[in-house]
Amino acid sequence: MKPGDSLHCPHCGRNTFLKKETVMNGWVRKGEVLKCVSCGAVIEELHEEKDAPRTFSAEQDAAAKLKSLLGAEFERKPEIRADADEKKFCRDCAHLIAHPFLTRCMKFSRDVNPMDDCPSFTPKKEK
Ligand SMILES: [Zn+2]
Repeated sequence: MKPGDSLHCPHCGRNTFLKKETVMNGWVRKGEVLKCVSCGAVIEELHEEKDAPRTFSAEQDAAAKLKSLLGAEFERKPEIRADADEKKFCRDCAHLIAHPFLTRCMKFSRDVNPMDDCPSFTPKKEK
């Protein structure tokens, strides 16, 4: 049935037709109904597909999945960025012994290059 359809109303018994009316719950639009123009009885409730809860939750699921994917990305990123931004050069390390002819690391007791990138880097204390 649709607005303007004629019908024999079971409520008032007249030959009448349907009108569409919006049902409101305060300021929230709840839906639409088809009513008899003579007596105002609700003949049929109209359901709108776009307001179906199933569609809404499917969108939420997709958003949640995307968010969890991005969340995993974001958790990994700071670690990578820290490695890229601050190089742990041996020349800035507390274990380094600067000497005119060689550069030695106290931690590993070996010669190192001042520009080496060391996993056991310890920042030098500022004097
Ligand atoms: Zn009626």
